[in-house]
Amino acid sequence: MIRILANDGIAAAGKELLEKAGFIVDTENIPQEQLPEALKNYDAITVRSATKVRQSLIDACPNIKLIGRGGVGMDNIDVDYARSKGVAVVNTPAASSPSVAELVFAHLFNGIRFLYDANRKMPVEGNTNFNGLKKAYAKGVELKGKKIGIIGFGRIGRETAKIALGLGMEVLAYDLFDVPQELELNLFNNITVKVPVTKVDIDQLLRDSDFISLHIPFIEKPVLGAEEFAKMKKGVGIVNCSRGGTIDEEALLSALDSGTVAFAGLDVFDNEPTPAIAVLSHPKISLTPHIGAATNEAQERIGIELSNLIIDFFKK
Ligand code: NAD
Repeated sequence: MIRILANDGIAAAGKELLEKAGFIVDTENIPQEQLPEALKNYDAITVRSATKVRQSLIDACPNIKLIGRGGVGMDNIDVDYARSKGVAVVNTPAASSPSVAELVFAHLFNGIRFLYDANRKMPVEGNTNFNGLKKAYAKGVELKGKKIGIIGFGRIGRETAKIALGLGMEVLAYDLFDVPQELELNLFNNITVKVPVTKVDIDQLLRDSDFISLHIPFIEKPVLGAEEFAKMKKGVGIVNCSRGGTIDEEALLSALDSGTVAFAGLDVFDNEPTPAIAVLSHPKISLTPHIGAATNEAQERIGIELSNLIIDFFKK
């Protein structure tokens, strides 16, 4: 009997699929330091971002044949080492894209109407300074008709673009590789519409965008630093739901303080899970604790996709 340890949990629909296929699935979370011993009893482990599967754990459990990551980034797994030892490593890259894209717009809508500040000040001053706050938040703007620059036009970048296009925004797409000239929007009632996308270079994106959203992996150094902020339109809004490190946080704080950037929405940070206090307490930042994929729908799709990958692997 194949035994799977879903150490960071798995959606009920995914667990059910595995059990129907005849696998034993344990969802009890085993602390990291106890894993080398406990994992000896399993054929596969699935993780999200919390559990680390490093070389030492792989060496301690030679019976493990598959490591499954529910989600995209595999920074918590020594993927190359695992594969060099013949251990399969699989992930579910597409399942969470719509949820991450929606979170981008949660931050954008938050930013254009100052909710990040109103939600902090209303509980404190709402009954003594209502009119003062009303005045402070009077100069909101609309997204419709504005330009959104999307850095990284992969799965999530495209989902973000689709929402933007649906809202009547112009999409400026920048990627290291080719981007499609148009995207198909799937509207309610199976109506589909093709909408054009403008491909730009990074300088045009920085110069022309009213809002910028990042959808790239972290590779070596930030993609937005002081030099890039200096090229942006004054009053731009920045959202990062990709990876910590892709924005130079100090440069972002300076750009917020100088007014170059009107507001930022951050789901990801340097040094997670202990982000810098200066970032957490900045009055112009809307904050979420890396919850891009944390919706019921995304977790269900992730669970189902991961379970099917595991079943295919062991039944082949
Ligand atoms: P993807 O691989 O489909 O797309 C990434 C795109 O970025 C690719 O098209 C690539 O060519 C491009 N790219 C890479 N470096 C670039 C650069 N320097 N400049 C321009 N383009 C560049 O990945 P995805 O599924 O769209 O995920 C995007 C990011 O979102 C990843 O970092 C992923 O880890 C992150 N993510 C975050 C959450 C969350 O909870 N916030 C959830 C899922 C994924």
